[in-house]
This record gives sequence, C-alpha cells and structure tokens, in this order.
Amino acid sequence: MKKHNFYAGPSILTPYTIKNTADAVIDFANTGLSILEVSHRSKEFQAVMDEAQALVKELLDIPAGYHVLFLGGGASLQFAMVPYNLLQTKAAYLDTGVWAHKAIKEAKLFGDVEIVATSEDKNYNYIPKNYTVPEDVDYFHYTTNNTIYGTEIRKDPDVKVRMVADMSSDIFSRPVDVSKYDIIYAGAQKNLAPAGATIIIVREDALGHVTRQIPTMLNYKTHADKGSMFNTPPVLPIFSALQTLKYYKEVGGVKEMEKRDLAKAAKLYEAIDSSRVFEATVKDHEDRSIMNVCFVLKPEYAEMEKAFIDFASTKGIVGIKGHRSVGGFRASLYNALPMESVDVLVAAMKEFENKL
Ligand SMILES: *Cc1c(COP(=O)(O)O)cnc(C)c1O
Repeated sequence: MKKHNFYAGPSILTPYTIKNTADAVIDFANTGLSILEVSHRSKEFQAVMDEAQALVKELLDIPAGYHVLFLGGGASLQFAMVPYNLLQTKAAYLDTGVWAHKAIKEAKLFGDVEIVATSEDKNYNYIPKNYTVPEDVDYFHYTTNNTIYGTEIRKDPDVKVRMVADMSSDIFSRPVDVSKYDIIYAGAQKNLAPAGATIIIVREDALGHVTRQIPTMLNYKTHADKGSMFNTPPVLPIFSALQTLKYYKEVGGVKEMEKRDLAKAAKLYEAIDSSRVFEATVKDHEDRSIMNVCFVLKPEYAEMEKAFIDFASTKGIVGIKGHRSVGGFRASLYNALPMESVDVLVAAMKEFENKL
C-alpha cells in the first residue's frame, strides 16, 4: 500500500532525492565506487560540496559575505556553538518551546541571557507578540518553526540587532532576508536530507568578536576557512541534500515551495476547523505552522485518539501521532509531501468523523 509519510523528523524526502541517493550508493558519479566508500577529498565529492553550497546561496538569495557550512552534531550542537562564537556579554532569546529552551540553556553557559518573551503559560500554543529586544545584546535568537507545537514565525522580525535563527523545520519553505541574520542553522532531517548534516549560514564578520578561546572544531572560522572540509563532512547526507536542492531549483525555488506548502496547510486547517470532532491546538491563524499541523479530538471524543491513528494507518497514513508534550495528532507537511497525501488524510478524517 502507498504510504503517506507525516513524520516530524526524520521525515519525507522527494522521490528524486531517494532515487538519486540509492543510485549513488551503488555507483557514485560513474566512479565505479559507492558514495559510501569514496574520499571526501575526491574531485567528484568536492564537486558535490561546491554545488550544494552554491545552490543554498542561490535558493535563499544569500548576499556576499556569508559562508554555507554542512557540519555534524545536529541542530542541537548549534545551541552551544552559536553562543560559544557570538556571545560576549548578553544575548536575547525568544522562548517558544522545547527547542528554544535547549538553546537558552546552552547560551547561559557563556553569558547573560535575556528572555524577551515566552508562551509557556499556554503550553507554547501561540507566538508571543509585542516584545522588545534590547539594543545592547550581541544577538537575538529565535526559532522560526516550533516543530512540536505547530507554531511558526514566517516573517523575518524587524529588530535593531543582528539575529540568529534555528530554521531546522522550515528552511526552504519561504524566501528569507538572510542579510538580517548573523547565523541561520537547520538540521537537515526535516526539509532537506537524511539526518547527519546541519546546514549553517554564517555571516563572515559576525565572527572573531568574542575574547574567549574556542576549540578548533567548535569554531565556525575553522570550517568557514576550509569550505566546510576541515575534517570529514557527512558525505552521504550532503549528497542527498544536493539532490533535494536541485529539485527545489528545478520546480521553481523557495517561492514555489512556499506556494505549495501554503496550499497544503490551508486545505488541512480548513478540514480541521470545519470538523465536528477535531480541533486545532493553535487558534490564532497567524501563528499556525504550515509545516507541522497540530490537532486534537474535541474533549467529548478524546478517548478515540488511538482509534483514529489505527484507522488512518489502514489508509497508509503514518507518523501522525502528536508529540508527547502536546498529545493528539501532528501532521508534518514538509516540502516533499505531495498534496495527494493531504487529500488522503482529509478524506480519512471525514470518514472517521462520519462513523462517530
Ligand atoms: C528537530 C529540531 C531540532 C533538533 O535537531 P537535531 O538535529 O536532532 O539536533 C532543533 N530545532 C528544531 C526547530 C527542530 O525541529
């Protein structure tokens, strides 16, 4: 049966990415070797790295003066690397949930952290508004898309300081004004590639301003100076990332992805909002994520949660169980998910509702 993959991460990849990765595992670039067994210093892999970096720059319209890195350690390592490299005295953080929390915890090891606002009072089901970012901070950090709660900030904020953003779960789903940021980072496994690589976009002159010693591997400058090839990079995820980037370019870039993502999300939220038995956990439409749609059964039907997951699985739907801290359901509609899968989910919801 055809599967409809709504997993939150690792998550669905384009068929183009899977097919080309599978082919390269057998024979990479006509070398007669698998991508799993070639030197990262080979000219064939260097070409992959160069093209992947160039395509990230092209797709996100990155101005001059920025480096694109592919490092290991996941987005979670960036929670520490960012303050290690940028936090001299004080940084401002927006607290929108678990991932923001983890970033804040690491930043506190390096300096003062001012939390400008939090939505903890309502289990992070909205985006805080009307906060002020102090002007005497080294940077302002926020999470663009809160994968667990299904909230998202889709407009680059206007603040007077440079910004750092965790875009792990919505990078390449909209055009971004990169010039507003010192660092953008994203684990690959949500909208780009298999787990193992983290994409980091770093502004050259954001570096070198802290007085502390930085261990070689944790210093962005080490990797920037060596074109992200200081040590062995995650070869296979980078190869897969290149396939996804090529696909994005081929279909019309991030503007086209945004159009498709908006259409998918609109259809699913519409089905939830008009349902007798389901309801969205994020009420304010402006705050709703187009990547992770969180919903629950209304209280009077709450005991049917497992029944719906089981019913959905008979339609080939996988990965819709909500995160344990929110409960209910979460349908992740990453770039690679086709509209057809949303249609199948919406039909399953209607069929289930009609039986209740
Ligand atoms: C998944 C996720 C992370 C964690 O990524 P790892 O690569 O597992 O460290 C961090 N931030 C956000 C927003 C995420 O969705």
